[in-house]
Amino acid sequence: MECPACGNTLTRMTVADVTVDVCQDGCGGIWFDSQEIRKLDDREEAAGEALLDVQRDPNVAVDHDAQWGCPQCGHPAMTRHFYSPKRAVEVDECPRCGGVWLDAGELATIRTQYESGDERRAAHREFAQQLYDEQLAEMQKEFAPVSAEAGEVAGPTEMLRRLLHFI
Ligand SMILES: [Zn+2]
Ligand SMILES: [Zn+2]
Repeated sequence: MECPACGNTLTRMTVADVTVDVCQDGCGGIWFDSQEIRKLDDREEAAGEALLDVQRDPNVAVDHDAQWGCPQCGHPAMTRHFYSPKRAVEVDECPRCGGVWLDAGELATIRTQYESGDERRAAHREFAQQLYDEQLAEMQKEFAPVSAEAGEVAGPTEMLRRLLHFI
């Protein structure tokens, strides 16, 4: 699998029962298959610590103005959105397979946002609705032409279903 940000070949890594693909010696990003990130995204989940120090090449820079395709299913455009109500980190999520890409350092930031999984889940529930209201129209406007070319358009109901998976 190829890194969506820098083109490096991703390395498969398993921590606890979660398998991820990391951009080792490249940009240092991490790919999570659909739902998997939720197993490692707060401090109570100790296994996530193994992923905080992915070896990266300091000379590799990533361009967030470019449109990144999904490394897993090949969808041409992942969507960017805030991971949590604290709006500290924007992640790239594939609208088709639901996988999530984190840049180097983003997992560490996400894991410092909440003391516990309960606190995080409560905040996410509120946030899902808020995000739906605020960003849906914009996301659809921005990505609809690309999605249409690829033969699919994620409607509001589908988009909400995906956001709710993060709870
Ligand atoms: Zn990379
Ligand atoms: Zn995908």
